[in-house]
Amino acid sequence: MERSTIVRVHEGLHARPATRFVKLAKGFESDVELVKDGKAVSAKSSVKLMLLAVKENQEVTVRANGADAIEAIEALIGYLENPKAGLDDEDPQPAGDAAPEPAAVSAPAATAGANGLRGVAASEGVAIGPAFAHYPPDIAGQGRMLQDSEISGEIDRFHAAVAAVQARMDRALAQDSLSAGDRGIVAALRDIAADDSLTGEVEGLIKGGNDAISAVITAASTIAADFSAVDDHYLNARADDVHAVGRQICLVLLGQDDVSLENIPQGAILIADDIGAWDLARAPLKRIGGVVCGHGGATSHIAIIARSHGIPAVLGLGDRINALRTAREVAIDGNGGHVIIDPDVATRADFAGRVEAAANERAGLAVFKTVTPKLADGRIIEVAANIGSLEEIEAAQEAGAMGVGLFRTELLFMRHMHLPSEDMQAETYAALAKAFAPYPVIVRTLDIGGDKPIAGIEFPDEENPFLGWRGIRMCLDRPDIFKRQLRALLRAAVHGNIKVMLPMVSDISEVRQTRVLVEECAAELRGEGVPHAAFDLGVMIETPAAVLIAPVLAKEVAFFSIGTNDLTQYIMAADRLNPTVAKLNDVANPAVMSAIELTARAGVAAGIMVGMCGEAAGRPDLIPVFVKMGLTELSMSPASIQRAKKTIAAMAAEG
Ligand code: PEP
Ligand code: MG
Repeated sequence: MERSTIVRVHEGLHARPATRFVKLAKGFESDVELVKDGKAVSAKSSVKLMLLAVKENQEVTVRANGADAIEAIEALIGYLENPKAGLDDEDPQPAGDAAPEPAAVSAPAATAGANGLRGVAASEGVAIGPAFAHYPPDIAGQGRMLQDSEISGEIDRFHAAVAAVQARMDRALAQDSLSAGDRGIVAALRDIAADDSLTGEVEGLIKGGNDAISAVITAASTIAADFSAVDDHYLNARADDVHAVGRQICLVLLGQDDVSLENIPQGAILIADDIGAWDLARAPLKRIGGVVCGHGGATSHIAIIARSHGIPAVLGLGDRINALRTAREVAIDGNGGHVIIDPDVATRADFAGRVEAAANERAGLAVFKTVTPKLADGRIIEVAANIGSLEEIEAAQEAGAMGVGLFRTELLFMRHMHLPSEDMQAETYAALAKAFAPYPVIVRTLDIGGDKPIAGIEFPDEENPFLGWRGIRMCLDRPDIFKRQLRALLRAAVHGNIKVMLPMVSDISEVRQTRVLVEECAAELRGEGVPHAAFDLGVMIETPAAVLIAPVLAKEVAFFSIGTNDLTQYIMAADRLNPTVAKLNDVANPAVMSAIELTARAGVAAGIMVGMCGEAAGRPDLIPVFVKMGLTELSMSPASIQRAKKTIAAMAAEG
């Protein structure tokens, strides 16, 4: 018995809706299959179902065979035809949803002495501490064929290991302390561990004479390869989930524990070839003394997280990161990009002295927390914070932020396995507005591109994602996503201090089209009787085109915010994530400084606010130059705020 339908589930049967569909299917005795384009898979395996890559608006057939086939078909078709099935903002992302970090890069040769390395100075500060190497060990099977008499025992051992992994995950899920994001990751991994496609494949391999560990490694690799082969970025990222689950099962079989960031000792230097921004964000950051990584660059998200928590970081070491595998102690200088392995007595003393001096400087800066920096001519310079989540509000407030100059909304989208709803976004923006009132909160509309795919948006394969379909370009092509964000922002604007800015603007039509959408959204909300208010609309100046049309843009927007991270890479044609061209990626280069000056001149002439939210806004050597150009708002990582206030106060004292 079978019935066909068009899938209306929002964004299709991606992980969570697939898991729920499977749960529903398992409630029936009948064998149930889902068929798409002639390919049939068991509806009781979420892995198989995900691999079918069923999208919204595609035709599928539900096939059932058994005593309750009619009921099963009825229920499953009902699920597929419900656009809201699987939509629930409390469902956070499964593992692997974090923005992928940049690809491996070769870095310049080591130059820092016999046991010293040089990488990209990604987050300032010095630190010395025990090395905490995060190199998950490779796992290998026994490499011998089992005797027939061993097979059933080995299958039992495998099932016991799966049960142990699931029990561990269930215990984690039962903890109140687990954040919503972590909960989603653990739940998704547990589903995979229990999936018939993994257990079936492993059992088959053990029956063929493979030991359980070899079988798990092979089965996980096969399934992961299937995920990698699907033409869907979101599903590609699930390959990592399968590897992660396989690894957990193998560790139980070996009786070993995994390397976890949870156990990082106080003040340790975290050493990793690569670490996902999402993993770092939820690590015990207060305990991490410094970060050294093979991947990443000065404006990669690992760097931004490290800076916002005041953690010194040296990134982009490339393969030379392997030299730190056996280090016991590491000293790092995040200002110069130096890493010293097992420092000698003199180096230790030097670093200890510098760490102490930095702590004293921090203590001396604390008095600037409540200072409102004012120039001799009476102009107030707003020193605001760049943040990407509500969790960072506290650090920004503790630093003395005068509002938020850049709220990156990407994390909101990356944390979830589907697009965040309007209600959820409105609540987030409103929480920010309330936390910082009466200071302004500038929310940047979604700035995402093919370099960081997210669930629910299909990105084309692009040779140059940084020059491609990202930021405002993508949003204008997807009014369904953009309008949801704009409606949420209009709703949050009732608090009076929300401003909105557009990323990656390169043509005036992008501002005009956005205004039309904003008006459409306002009219809809009016019609629905939903309270809302207008907001100031500004643009980021981060493309050379925006600099060159700044006088035109200035007539149509309420403010400029200069995004020096992207502006520098586009002006200098030097990838911001590539350490080999890090020297060119310098905001102080005259070409970039003159672009900033042109922008400031256009904004000041038009009487609009000109601010800056790129990382350069926190540089004490450049702040006086920017302020003299006419910038009145500087937004930066919370860790830089007090020093920036001090710099401006010193300028005022000099007159
Ligand atoms: C910038 O480009 O300067 C900026 C602030 O935005 P992001 O770093 O998020 O691209
Ligand atoms: Mg940018």
